[in-house]
Amino acid sequence: MKYIGAHVSAAGGVFNAPLNAVEIGATAFALFTKNQKQWKSSPLTNDAIAKFKTNCEENNFSPKQILPHDSYLINLGHPEAEKLEKSRAAFIDELQRCQQLGLIYLNFHPGTHLKQMSETDCLSRIAESINLALQQVPDVIAVIENTAGQGSNLGYRFDHLAEIIEQVKDKSRVGVCLDTCHTFVSGYDLRGAEACEKTFAEFERVVGFKYLKGMHINDSKTPYGSKVDRHAPLGAGEIGWDCFKYIMADSRFDGIPLVLETTNPELWPEEISELKRLAGLTH
Ligand SMILES: [Zn+2]
Ligand SMILES: [Zn+2]
Repeated sequence: MKYIGAHVSAAGGVFNAPLNAVEIGATAFALFTKNQKQWKSSPLTNDAIAKFKTNCEENNFSPKQILPHDSYLINLGHPEAEKLEKSRAAFIDELQRCQQLGLIYLNFHPGTHLKQMSETDCLSRIAESINLALQQVPDVIAVIENTAGQGSNLGYRFDHLAEIIEQVKDKSRVGVCLDTCHTFVSGYDLRGAEACEKTFAEFERVVGFKYLKGMHINDSKTPYGSKVDRHAPLGAGEIGWDCFKYIMADSRFDGIPLVLETTNPELWPEEISELKRLAGLTH
């Protein structure tokens, strides 16, 4: 079964996210459980948690269909001790929020070395941050997203993801989210079925589909290998529909949230309905 949706707004409270997802015909969704541009935000109230759970249950969203995303400020590989501490504390808070909401995933970008440390050291630091956080919060799986490789962001090679996973002690608590735009601009081709076949075979070889816990389904405004992260509506970018057709027809992408982060929310109902059709869920 394919679960298809988008990164919806949680404005007014986390409990609005499942309702916003239903509105666009989604069977999966992503959300921020706090303001993603701020370090601090007030704890979730019992009332908000209860409402979130009710709205999910009533609309048939189980935890495996939901992919919360953490704050953009967090850098689990920060080269400076004080800032690393701040990021780790914020990441633990994010995990706790997910746990309170009964969710099983937290999607995050691995981190950046800011040209102050080697890639290898930074990847180890990220893994250490994950280990520390997982010790403090039960249940939730840390889902590492591959990145476009902009600036000094790590996670733009499948090897980076594999190296972090390798150093995470509890392998049952770590996973990966592949963003099609990031995959493509970081140098893995997705233009056409043959390119997809090759790229996902490489992913299987280096990381393994058993770690795949979610996908971000985006086209790319910028060209192949550009390392510039600019999402585009499906079919309106450099990747094209063949890739999305391929994913929708492949059972290795079953049972995980497949989430649009495309740039025009007005197109989401259409994009979701087309993806569902390609997955054979509607006619
Ligand atoms: Zn993404
Ligand atoms: Zn992106």
